[in-house]
Amino acid sequence: MQHFVLTWKAKNNIILRLSRNSLRLKTVSDGFAFARDGRVLEGTLAVAELFRLHDLLAEVTGSVDFRLQGFKGERGQFMLRLEAAGVVPLACQRCLEAIHFELKIDSLLQLVPESTELSQEELEDDTRDFLPLAGELKVAELVEDEILLALPVAPRHEKCGLPGAADAGERINPFAALAGLKGKPN
Ligand SMILES: [Zn+2]
Repeated sequence: MQHFVLTWKAKNNIILRLSRNSLRLKTVSDGFAFARDGRVLEGTLAVAELFRLHDLLAEVTGSVDFRLQGFKGERGQFMLRLEAAGVVPLACQRCLEAIHFELKIDSLLQLVPESTELSQEELEDDTRDFLPLAGELKVAELVEDEILLALPVAPRHEKCGLPGAADAGERINPFAALAGLKGKPN
């Protein structure tokens, strides 16, 4: 058992060491220039390096592919289109087992200088989001933000979300768990 845990940890350490390099590559030094020049950045992020997701997961596995496209809007706005896809093993809120959630993101973002005050009209505009930026664009962080926004708030398996499932489960489970413990050799 202990051996298995160490192996899993060692594996994750290797993934992290590899992905630290990739994170550095996924930083754009000037997001406005990226948009102005119509640049494209494509890549893959390991779920292991998306730390803010980890608490929501049943297991830290999988990866997310993304494509970031810069362009200029009709009125010269600095725009980004972010597309991302992957399978994320979310923890079911009821049974904690994995739900293999198919992530699909297609977001439109407008870059604005950090000190910009947005008008009420702009804030209410839901055709795009505003991304205040000093200059440097942390792409991995942006992808992680968008993933967090796209995940369901309280994910449950279909069978775990059925009306009455919670009641029945809570009445039966403590006994089932006790019986399981009693039967287990030390
Ligand atoms: Zn479940």
